[in-house]
Amino acid sequence: MDYIGKYPNKLGRFGDFGGIFAPEILMPALNELNEAYEKYINDPEFQNEFYNILKYYSGRPTPLYFASRLSEYIGCKVYLKREDLNHGGAHKINNVIGQALLAKKMGKKKLIAETGAGQHGFATAIAGAYFGMETKVFMGEVDIVRQSYNVYRMQLLGAEVIPVKSGSKTLKDAINEGLRYWIANVHDTHYLMGSVVGPHPYPMLVREFQRVIGKEIKQQILELENKLPNAIIACIGGGSNAIGAFYDFINEDNVKLIGVEAGGEGKNTNKHSIALGLGRRGVLHGAMQYLLQNEYGNILETHSISAGLDYPGVGPEHCYLSKINRLIVGDATDNETLNAFKKLSELEGIIPALESSHAIAYLIKNKDTFEKDDIIVINLSGSGSKDLSIVSDYIKFKINPKEIL
Ligand SMILES: *Cc1c(COP(=O)(O)O)cnc(C)c1O
Repeated sequence: MDYIGKYPNKLGRFGDFGGIFAPEILMPALNELNEAYEKYINDPEFQNEFYNILKYYSGRPTPLYFASRLSEYIGCKVYLKREDLNHGGAHKINNVIGQALLAKKMGKKKLIAETGAGQHGFATAIAGAYFGMETKVFMGEVDIVRQSYNVYRMQLLGAEVIPVKSGSKTLKDAINEGLRYWIANVHDTHYLMGSVVGPHPYPMLVREFQRVIGKEIKQQILELENKLPNAIIACIGGGSNAIGAFYDFINEDNVKLIGVEAGGEGKNTNKHSIALGLGRRGVLHGAMQYLLQNEYGNILETHSISAGLDYPGVGPEHCYLSKINRLIVGDATDNETLNAFKKLSELEGIIPALESSHAIAYLIKNKDTFEKDDIIVINLSGSGSKDLSIVSDYIKFKINPKEIL
């Protein structure tokens, strides 16, 4: 199919999705960002600087690792794209380095970000320290209590964590507070968006910085196997690691692209985050997308064992790719995910992030649908070191350990 380079259109739309649903007062900031993006994204000097930081600071290219014992268990060839080996332990570094570099070129002095579980806040704090930019991270008071370890990590890197006391004191209130601050301080401040969500140009900009994942996969798999994979599987929260891995394969019709959402306690409960699979069209955080909402359009509370996938919406490009049937959408429950978490740890000596474990869980439960000679790439978006206390609590309190592990 002929897709790459066509989306989003000038208005920031991916078919019926995306766009700019933002208050008038934000428009100058978004326009300024869009102009800077257009100016720098194809500038060889900017690209060079970006790739050099990723190479020497984050350790790119990350390996494409043939997981032989997992392959034997599944019954086809499975490769893991090791984004967990990046500095900071996840793919998020690609995006924060890209945006902070762009912000610096724009003459901005400060970075702000919102964070729920603290992972994006931590990544932004890394970029702030790297570039010597003052960094403020807005975080709900409830989340600050729940994620004290991440709060400490951010503070250690010199970032200021600002407690948000309004509303439910969680992620969505932190976003509101962050946007309010941005409007008042746009002259010297960049709002560093954490995924391929938000108003245009963010979904496009974050995709371009994460594209490095798929570019590397393509080159590496051709070197190793001399052909393209049959499928690429990635978890989807907002969708940045997934679109990063998928984008350079969208035109390759024979490569299946599979996105896995958080099934939480199950599709038939109201405790999940299956926005692509079960959501309806609506506007959240500046963009048209599939959303988990009630009949009045109020956003529903979501649930996932992995904080990074616990989001009621999903990036507009994934909505479009799913609608035109280019993206296959699956899900994995908390229990299936924990099983996969344990399985990969035992088989390969790699502890995956709970987010990434959803992609592995999908592979495990669908293993009979793959042929012996199939080549599957799993995007291992992050390391599970951050999740150990969640997993041990879950096993202690919620389930019979024998059932799962
Ligand atoms: C944040 C995070 C995710 C979810 O974000 P996407 O934008 O959907 O990629 C997935 N995996 C890890 C390890 C994360 O830290």
